[in-house]
Amino acid sequence: MASLSLKHIYKVYDGGVKAVNDFCMEIEDNEFIVFVGPSGCGKSTTLRMIAGLEDITAGELRIDNEIVNDFEPKDRNIAMVFQNYALYPHMSVYENMAFSLRTAHMPKDVIHQKVTEAAEILGITEYLQRKPKALSGGQRQRVALGRAIVRNPKVFLLDEPLSNLDAKLRAAMRSEISRLHQRLKTTFIYVTHDQVEAMTMGTRIVVMKLGYVQQIDTPINLYKYPDNMFVAGFIGTPQMNFFDATITKTGDDVRFDLDCGATINMKYIQADKILTKYMDGKHKVVFGVRPDAVKIDSPELDPNEWEKTKAVVSVVEILGGETLVYANLNVDTPDAKEGAIVIKADPDFFCHRGDILDIAISKVKFHAFDKETEVSIRKRIPEANIINCSINAGKLSFNGEQLTLPAALADKKADNAVLSMPVSALHLGEGEGKATVQWIENFEGKTLYFLKVQDLTLFALEYGDPVHKIGEVVSFNIDARYITVPECGILPLKRENSVAGTFSKEKKEDDKNSYNFYMEMAGLKVRPTPELCKKLFACKGTKIFRTDLEYVFDAHDIHVVDMKRENVTIPGKVSEVLDYGVAKYVRVAVGNESIIVAHDGKIGDEVNMILDCDRLTVKDKSLDITIV
Ligand code: ADP
Repeated sequence: MASLSLKHIYKVYDGGVKAVNDFCMEIEDNEFIVFVGPSGCGKSTTLRMIAGLEDITAGELRIDNEIVNDFEPKDRNIAMVFQNYALYPHMSVYENMAFSLRTAHMPKDVIHQKVTEAAEILGITEYLQRKPKALSGGQRQRVALGRAIVRNPKVFLLDEPLSNLDAKLRAAMRSEISRLHQRLKTTFIYVTHDQVEAMTMGTRIVVMKLGYVQQIDTPINLYKYPDNMFVAGFIGTPQMNFFDATITKTGDDVRFDLDCGATINMKYIQADKILTKYMDGKHKVVFGVRPDAVKIDSPELDPNEWEKTKAVVSVVEILGGETLVYANLNVDTPDAKEGAIVIKADPDFFCHRGDILDIAISKVKFHAFDKETEVSIRKRIPEANIINCSINAGKLSFNGEQLTLPAALADKKADNAVLSMPVSALHLGEGEGKATVQWIENFEGKTLYFLKVQDLTLFALEYGDPVHKIGEVVSFNIDARYITVPECGILPLKRENSVAGTFSKEKKEDDKNSYNFYMEMAGLKVRPTPELCKKLFACKGTKIFRTDLEYVFDAHDIHVVDMKRENVTIPGKVSEVLDYGVAKYVRVAVGNESIIVAHDGKIGDEVNMILDCDRLTVKDKSLDITIV
């Protein structure tokens, strides 16, 4: 039973290979987490860092809220099961399972009880006296699991444990390990390159590529809402079909022109999560559709939801439970790469190479990606709201609406401008704007509202369940801190402060054997909390005194206080006031730096501030990595 917290974990091997970059994840007790990705993506390295078999270059690893970066593997209460079983060949199964308990000097009767219980769970009681060489691969893997179970660890780490087994046995062991997880009610972290294993076993999956986390989500969400083409292509068999394309919006109609010559036509409402900037007929995009969202056409498929088109058959694979048809949307080129499409058909569907089929492509379950960045442009939560607007005399006008801008932006002016803002910056319930709720999606404690203002679609993301209904007219306002209007130089408020500095120590006046530690920044010395010192030493040891650092903190994580204390409070002078209505900020001159602070003050005010060390980020400047 354990929770794990991985914060900004990096692994840089000697020689400079960055095997793992900025791995961040909170793992709850009793989760079954799977790390998946192609060979060399950093899965095993991450697992080995959790086990303590590999040093953590930077970042913080907690098990049950305790920082364990410097703990020996044996002190982490973790058990690891490897691909090659690592059994002792000269010992019996019983001895193998009892080994770690014996070295821990556990009483004989307790050892016996634990080994027989584990053997019972795994169904290997009758083999306890055999040597490993007299066991099959599956039985050996059970013994390896048994060795882990007897130790009653807080966390099970499994590194490709099934990859030496044949396909049939692998499938059987998969469900056995899932059952074991349910029975033991312990946190499991499982590494595999096999996406089927990941999908069937994980409660959440971490998809990795080249040392970077691509997406962390439940199996079904990865399948339905992949964040990028890599995840879309990696998860699901057969792979998602991809087509290079452009998108054109004409009034209420949207058309995907695939490079292979086919078109997909739909109403704007079916594609309204895609920003209209992609719908200019020029942007290179990729249209994606999974084989199970392509069907052999039949009259009951509604043309509003299915694009009916033709495809020429290249290869047919009859798998018994289903038939896979490999075809091409360009009926003249059955074997070309461009236009290639895989269709999951019913098992009793028959066709032959060269047949021209009537097929239907879903206009609901489709994906779209930016061709260049490969990032999804039809995410579950849209990227932004984009609004054609004008700004004048402190008012923002668009589609018949007029909203008052806060004082910080009151002097801005622009005609025919384009405003963009994240969907979480539009708030419903109060404000000068009026919109009609057109559609609502509710998932994972969040609600995404689709709003209409004349012919404009806007999105609002709120936490909690829906409080408005479809068809309701709602008031709204926007949080001007997060808007961008390039035409008049409005940029999102940069709340993050980044100040260069170092970490130093000085012998205490009264006790020459101990030290005071300081964060040095902007020509000032500030005392860190003991907790922060511990984290910095855990990561860098005494090298911390020779490292160029960057202290990064949000405007809301530094507080103006009444008192003044040497080396504790940070003195400064207000140089600018930024009133955003919902929140007020000041820019404060501190030494030779200028920082932004959430505070209601006046220009010229002398202030004393305290930095919240718990929420501070510290970066190693030369390695360009986050260490705390
Ligand atoms: P995976 O488990 O996803 O196959 P690994 O975590 O084993 O990947 O490796 C990630 C990257 O780190 C690879 O590029 C690999 O070559 C490199 N790597 C692994 N171990 C070492 C090592 N001891 N020294 C240097 N590079 C290593």
